[in-house]
Amino acid sequence: MAEERDARIYKERRYEMVEQLTRYGITNSRVLEAFLSVERHLFFNPEDRDYAYDDCAFPIGCGQTISQPFTVAYMTSMLVERCPAGKVLEVGTGSGYQAAILDCMGYSVYTVERIQELFERSSLIFSMLDLHIHQHLGDGTLGWSEHAPYGGIVVTAGAPKPPPALLEQLADKGAMVIPIGNSAGQRMTVITRSGNSMNREEFHAFAFVPLIGKEGWEDE
Ligand code: SAM
Repeated sequence: MAEERDARIYKERRYEMVEQLTRYGITNSRVLEAFLSVERHLFFNPEDRDYAYDDCAFPIGCGQTISQPFTVAYMTSMLVERCPAGKVLEVGTGSGYQAAILDCMGYSVYTVERIQELFERSSLIFSMLDLHIHQHLGDGTLGWSEHAPYGGIVVTAGAPKPPPALLEQLADKGAMVIPIGNSAGQRMTVITRSGNSMNREEFHAFAFVPLIGKEGWEDE
């Protein structure tokens, strides 16, 4: 009974979250439907689930966060407009929520995380939800060359520059969504490939945890 009541309350909260995303300008129906379907509270530690549908980033351990719903919806909208289907690489699995949203939208999802504890945490959640998301533990600034090229790449940590390996692994006509800047803030950037030329567009400002790795920031 308590479980049924909780499920109903969480569902209502997902509707409220989606209404708020719509007010903030997210209009893509595939994105909004995925936000209604994916149970965000399951990507939170049990003691924190009351906060799961607030429009905020939230700590998940190891000094990392699950991104704010608006940020995930914004990046996913930028991706879906340019790469509606196919194989997508996510750098920065974190909680696994962004990967689950992409999976729910029908993408074939490959995701890389550098912190073993978070890799294992998200792996448990994916198997509990029976999601077939391909996971790799390692430095995502080097991409995941075995499965390249990717029609879409989403980087969910703040980068100093576009990592060259990710540009190489982007398919022709593919799009990479990546926050680029410094520790004070980043501009959401979309890089689209046409043959060997790359087109770069900059959008709103965000503040992400750093992308740490060979082609990112140094680990302190
Ligand atoms: N996408 C995540 C989600 O849905 O919860 C949120 C990601 S969190 C803001 C950023 C993640 O990027 C952290 O888990 C961090 O450990 C990871 N990260 C940072 N640098 C990385 C790298 N070089 N390779 C892979 N993951 C990295």
